[in-house]
Amino acid sequence: MVDSEGRGVQVKENIKFTPSLSEQRHKFVLDFVRKHKPQKVADLGCANCKLLWRLKYHESIEVLAGLDIDENILTRNMLHTGAGDYLDPRERPLTITLYHGSVVEKDPCLLGFDLITCIELIEHLEAKELSQFPEVIFGFFSPTTVIISTPNSEFNPLFSGKTLFRHPDHKFEWNRTQFQSWALDAARHYGYSVEFTGLGEPPPGAEAVGFCTQIGVFVKNIPNAVESLHNEKTIECTYTTVGTVIYPSLKEEKYLRKAVSNEVFSQILKLKRALLESLKMKKDRDSGDELEFVKLECDKSKNDPTEETPKPFCIGNVFYIPLERLFSFPKIKHLCGDLETLKMLIADEVRLSSDGSSVMINIVDEEDCDLSDNDWDDYSGEERNGGGSHGTCL
Ligand code: SAH
Repeated sequence: MVDSEGRGVQVKENIKFTPSLSEQRHKFVLDFVRKHKPQKVADLGCANCKLLWRLKYHESIEVLAGLDIDENILTRNMLHTGAGDYLDPRERPLTITLYHGSVVEKDPCLLGFDLITCIELIEHLEAKELSQFPEVIFGFFSPTTVIISTPNSEFNPLFSGKTLFRHPDHKFEWNRTQFQSWALDAARHYGYSVEFTGLGEPPPGAEAVGFCTQIGVFVKNIPNAVESLHNEKTIECTYTTVGTVIYPSLKEEKYLRKAVSNEVFSQILKLKRALLESLKMKKDRDSGDELEFVKLECDKSKNDPTEETPKPFCIGNVFYIPLERLFSFPKIKHLCGDLETLKMLIADEVRLSSDGSSVMINIVDEEDCDLSDNDWDDYSGEERNGGGSHGTCL
């Protein structure tokens, strides 16, 4: 039998969690973020910033902050943007800032957050710091939600080691009653509701000790009611900034322009290849009036989003790709939103027909083939955007 303190539990082997408990705690936060889609998230006691770096992949988040009292660990784990961040920019902006400071210091840079996480942090605080903690987190920072996790001491007898606490830097470890009464007090005092849960199931027969990690999820009763009480200018900054990373995003026109151009060029290249291929086939077979390019078009799947749009065509050695067709590619449509924006974004990168309806590509310079004896207009398909005639720009 096991009582609520875990007394009397026989430990036969070291308890191991798969995935690790640390991984499960981070996953708990990530699931919460996926569900509630906060924009501004701060992780206090962020240590090696592992949770922050995983949070950065969540599109809802635009501001991420990490705070730790250990400056070295922050410096060692400062992230930088990589080539991939520029090649495939985020939809929304993201700024990550790491701060060096104590969680019991008030600093305006953590005001106005949607979520503050304190994962395995509070048990590292001295008694005085712990007493200041609720006023700083709930009273001052006053985010919409707070997640606090801490060891459940009732689980400890299940571990084989003889140490008092799970980590040498822990100043205390609470049982469920201690954590819940502290959390309920704080919640009541600062206008939050709190729900308790946990991670790390006890082994069969020891269910009474509860989860290995206990978690309190706090939600502000009246969202955003407190921020206005704090005038940011009257409060001095106490944290030092270890580093800030600003990620490229499609909200910035230069990255949007690049992303659209890349996609447009990639589609143009495909269309051009198809055109040249069909030309080559036609030449090889010399099969009279067979319109191979049109045939290629017909070979496409029935769900082709470009199906209903004006087809590319040739006049002389110039290949015309109607913007309407480019716009029908889902990625380009998603990036630009409307045809005018597409035109505006690629105007400096491509040559447009005089009426601005098509991108013009001169093929003869780029391909090692003589097109002069080919009736390129034959490859235009039946529809002509702008109704151009032979030798005439659209
Ligand atoms: N949250 C991390 C690690 C927690 S370990 C994770 O999920 O893995 C606790 C961290 O809190 C340590 O990095 C420690 O340096 C930091 N810490 C301790 N006291 C602190 C304080 N007063 N203010 C800010 N960070 C503190």
